[in-house]
Amino acid sequence: MEKPELGKSYDAGDLAKLCGEEEDIRYGYYAFVGDRATVIAQDEGNDIVKVTEIIRNRPECPKCEAPIDSIYTSRTVQLVYSSDKWSEEQADRYNNYGCPECGEELSVEDLDELGVPEEGR
Ligand SMILES: [Zn+2]
Repeated sequence: MEKPELGKSYDAGDLAKLCGEEEDIRYGYYAFVGDRATVIAQDEGNDIVKVTEIIRNRPECPKCEAPIDSIYTSRTVQLVYSSDKWSEEQADRYNNYGCPECGEELSVEDLDELGVPEEGR
């Protein structure tokens, strides 16, 4: 599914669909409030509107393009036995991330694209 883009012009009905709603609310400027996106657009005539502000855009999986609001994570840790006890070996620790819709593994670049902050990984 395509996302609304800032500064791009759309047919008003098409933009409403991109935002995930049936009807637009008009105040001279248009406000499209849907479950996928909320945008403000300017009337350009002939039912064409130009996106002037994106209030909210739901993230999409870079692999399957499904709208997602969660990411699966799993952490792999190697335990090492030394000095008569088990402990985590930090060097061998890594995380996996996956899309809840398609199950594809998400790479570091995918996480960047989704805007997942470094400290949350
Ligand atoms: Zn996916």
